[in-house]
Amino acid sequence: MPDNLSAKLFRPELLSMSAYHVADAANYIKLDAMENPYSWPESIQQAWLETLKTCALNRYPDPEAKALAAVLRSSNAISEHAGLILGNGSDEIIQILLMALAPQASVLSVEPSFVMYKQIALSLSLNYCGIPLREDDFGLDLPAMLNAITALQPALIFLAYPNNPTGNLFDTASILAILAAAPGLVVIDEAYAPFAEASFLHLLAELDNLLVMRTVSKLGLAGLRLGFLAGNPKILTELNKIRLPYNINCLTQSTAEFALNYGEFLLDQTKDICQQRTVVFNALQAMDQIYAYPSAANFILFRTLDISADQVFTALKQQGILIKNLSRQGGVLTNCLRVTIGTESENLAFLQALKNALNQ
Ligand code: PMP
Repeated sequence: MPDNLSAKLFRPELLSMSAYHVADAANYIKLDAMENPYSWPESIQQAWLETLKTCALNRYPDPEAKALAAVLRSSNAISEHAGLILGNGSDEIIQILLMALAPQASVLSVEPSFVMYKQIALSLSLNYCGIPLREDDFGLDLPAMLNAITALQPALIFLAYPNNPTGNLFDTASILAILAAAPGLVVIDEAYAPFAEASFLHLLAELDNLLVMRTVSKLGLAGLRLGFLAGNPKILTELNKIRLPYNINCLTQSTAEFALNYGEFLLDQTKDICQQRTVVFNALQAMDQIYAYPSAANFILFRTLDISADQVFTALKQQGILIKNLSRQGGVLTNCLRVTIGTESENLAFLQALKNALNQ
């Protein structure tokens, strides 16, 4: 219950929501948050520490992070014609986008999807609507999306591609139909791009209402907090007025620049994670009491059959494995769990612990 002063001062939407919850992962094999499980090779760490010595901590960082922006453009093949803004994680970019909308604007996404679209939209008193994905394969329900676009005239549509927590890529034709019907902006959130062989970046030059958002988090730099948004420069000029001047600190600027310039090892780690994804998927599929959904990301969603996901989640925790329990969200996610792909030995430990949990 909010106290009297909070109830008097704050928006009712804010008072009725809960803060984003992050589980305490101390002493667990941590497979809950789509992180890259590898640390940096020693020689790279040494070179990075040398780079950090050049950071002027007494000065404000470059407000435009120009050097880093140039590296992000080249490593993601973003043309000079597209605008680019950087955020303190893509979470901050979602917030910037939503803060820019007119009061009472509608925001459309799908359910289930990345929770921050809804959380931030509601905290800003925007009119959020999540259209359920198809139940069988978590694909887009295009007729329902098009109806919602006609009815709500959304200022902004978020589509995660691949989607979190389902792991699938929505079909291109449906996304193009949504882009054509949308009266406002469509943000394709490519947070999991390093693991997917598909992108909408190449369409930026053709489509004025398309924005593509990415992050370095899943590539292996989650601790840095760096995301970016590319697209129509006129739109980004407006959004840039909301971005705080020094939102990318100097340690993040120089570390990300360094990591992307010497990033071969991150790409190798990504390849390894994709191979491990196949191993884990095949093993899950072979288990009678599990239904695993195909994934184009660095995690796999699976459903428990004839046994409750809560029970499996708890049994995994007792064996030192932390994954994400989505079952409590109910609806189509009832009995669903999500596991992030870890190192080979972490994945083996997870699979063994899951077998133990199912045989209990
Ligand atoms: N988009 C999606 C689809 C995500 O799953 C996540 C993180 N779980 C984010 C954005 C946020 O990423 P960042 O670390 O850049 O804030």
